[in-house]
Amino acid sequence: MSCKFCKTKPVITLTNNKINLCKSCFIKYFERKALKTIKQYKLLEKKDNVVCAVSGGKDSLSVLNLLIKLKDKMNLTLTALLIDEGIKGYRNKSIENAKKFCKEKNIKLEIASYKENFGKTLDSMKKKNKNTIACSMCGVFRRSLLNKKSRELKATKLATGHNLDDEAQSILMNQLRHNIALSSRLGPITGVKRDPRFIPRIKPFYFLTEKEVATYAFLHNLVNDFNECVYCEESYRFEIRDLLNDMEQKHPGTKHALVASFIEVLPLLKNKFKDIEIRSCKNCGEPSSSEICNVCQIIKKII
Ligand code: SF4
Ligand code: ZN
Ligand code: ZN
Repeated sequence: MSCKFCKTKPVITLTNNKINLCKSCFIKYFERKALKTIKQYKLLEKKDNVVCAVSGGKDSLSVLNLLIKLKDKMNLTLTALLIDEGIKGYRNKSIENAKKFCKEKNIKLEIASYKENFGKTLDSMKKKNKNTIACSMCGVFRRSLLNKKSRELKATKLATGHNLDDEAQSILMNQLRHNIALSSRLGPITGVKRDPRFIPRIKPFYFLTEKEVATYAFLHNLVNDFNECVYCEESYRFEIRDLLNDMEQKHPGTKHALVASFIEVLPLLKNKFKDIEIRSCKNCGEPSSSEICNVCQIIKKII
């Protein structure tokens, strides 16, 4: 078994076409594929003010690593933004990792916490609301805080490390929950219509698998441990993740096919939901599709 292009020792076999690649051919393949996505879906423009969401994990540091390589060429302003949910024993380690990486690369790192912004850590919210799934609160808070802080930083784009596995999970979750309106906001660049209150989220790794991103991170020495959040086991997303991994093992190409089919119908979905009105939450003023935004509704219920 050798690299398809240079016949040296391979580091990875790509799952969708069974091609073996060595370290340097894989890095070239990976970055070319991300750049193709950036170009094809117009994710970046010259002089963009990009805020990169980082958690200190493999996906987010890999996307930050790629953006650093593009920074001078595209004249980008680049800031890293980390959301500290307040999850003991999990987030502390990844914050240290993100701080170290940003310091080495001379990238400004902003940190925003649930405690400062919503009054409590996720751990204490969960302690008081044992029957509420942690991820259902956490996802809403994180999305809102990332958008709000990026807007305050005058970002023109918010980059995330979402990969093909993440997107396949979101597509399937929305299908199984009959939540097509949520699906219309997915894609390599999120949102249905431009609104200055929402910073468009871009996903350069949209067509790269989790395994490929993990390999890229490993080859760049970006993370030294792959620990998972303590609450992940209770989430619906992780059930879907296991289901898709199982399907992928039995039927290779399943995830690629799911995302490719979705991309074909996405313009129709965006068109269907383009006239939905975006209001301002009566309570906090943040953009919302209902009178009171999801963040305020959750806070009222659980805190
Ligand atoms: Fe938050 Fe759930 Fe992710 Fe943990 S697994 S960080 S609770 S969304
Ligand atoms: Zn090679
Ligand atoms: Zn609100």
